Amino acid sequence: MGKAKKYYEAVFTDSGTCMIGCGHKHQNITTATACISQPGGYVVGVNRWGKFRQLNDEEEEAEFQRVMFDHDKRRDSKVPLGLPHAKNV
Ligand SMILES: [Zn+2]
Repeated sequence: MGKAKKYYEAVFTDSGTCMIGCGHKHQNITTATACISQPGGYVVGVNRWGKFRQLNDEEEEAEFQRVMFDHDKRRDSKVPLGLPHAKNV
C-alpha cells in the first residue's frame, strides 16, 4: 500500500512566521491532535522527505476537525490534578 512512511505532526507557528513541529511521528491524526499544546496549533502530514504538507485530503481534514472539536469539549476536565488552581480565589 506504500503508506508506511506517512506520519503526522502537531505544529504551531511562532509569530506567524516560523512553523514548528512537535517532532514526533504520529501514526494518525488523533494522536497528533492530542499533542497540540498551544491555541492555534494544528496538524500537518509529513511526507517521506520530511516535508510538512497540509491535510489536503478530505478525509484527513474531516478527522482533524472532529478530533479538535472533541479535544475542545474535554478541555475542562483536563486541569492537572496535582496543581493548585488559581480560579478558586
Ligand atoms: Zn507530537
